[in-house]
Amino acid sequence: MSASSGLSTFRGAGGYWRAYNSIDLATPDAFYSDPGLVWQFYSYRRHKALTAEPNNAHKALARLSHVKNIKFLTISQNVDGLSQRAGHNPDTLLEIHGSLFELRCTDFCCSYVERNNMTDPLTPSLDVTSFDKLESLPSLTSDQLPHCPRCHKGLLRPGVIWFGESLPLQAVDKADEFIVRNGVDLILVIGTSRSVWPAASYVDVVKNQGGKVAIFNTERDEAEADAWQFVGDCSETLPAALEPLFSGSQAA
Ligand SMILES: [Zn+2]
Repeated sequence: MSASSGLSTFRGAGGYWRAYNSIDLATPDAFYSDPGLVWQFYSYRRHKALTAEPNNAHKALARLSHVKNIKFLTISQNVDGLSQRAGHNPDTLLEIHGSLFELRCTDFCCSYVERNNMTDPLTPSLDVTSFDKLESLPSLTSDQLPHCPRCHKGLLRPGVIWFGESLPLQAVDKADEFIVRNGVDLILVIGTSRSVWPAASYVDVVKNQGGKVAIFNTERDEAEADAWQFVGDCSETLPAALEPLFSGSQAA
């Protein structure tokens, strides 16, 4: 969805940053062996996300989240904060892959978490704001990176879910419970290949409950022959598809 706001997803094949495959940077091992490099990658992504604008797809979902007579939950794989900035109801937004703007202490004995930290750059050395600078980035030492304000010894890390890490159990539970308890009868699959668990499994759960599937993507999903397919830029197709819900509704 954020591709329409000019943000690269950095997932899957072709997601490169400098000479690095982004998958090699988004792991606990990468952070352990070179936290400076990983922080440069995430500082760049924070900066890009902060300078991007929510598009009409973010705005349409945000508007839907305030319609009073619809039970609704957004389960987002995005970490860029654009849904919040579009005004999405925070109570109905689950960021199951975390957020670029959450910071967590890496010290084993410390549970410090800070949300909605939009400081850019986080430290003077993490001023990774221009693409031209990327090729000549220096190696950083630990004292140039953000540290925990509570225990004063742990390095802070981005509060995103890395490859090889589990999704936050609380968020997964909330999503599962919402879908089953409410007998969800329609799932909108927006701009994802559905290859990433658990998003893919939600489609099957809704179908097994007799619900409908609507897919918004740039290509037709041949595997979902029975689904409603909205092919194109979701910043155009999603607002158009949702518009009838807004006319005459009690949108806040
Ligand atoms: Zn700490």
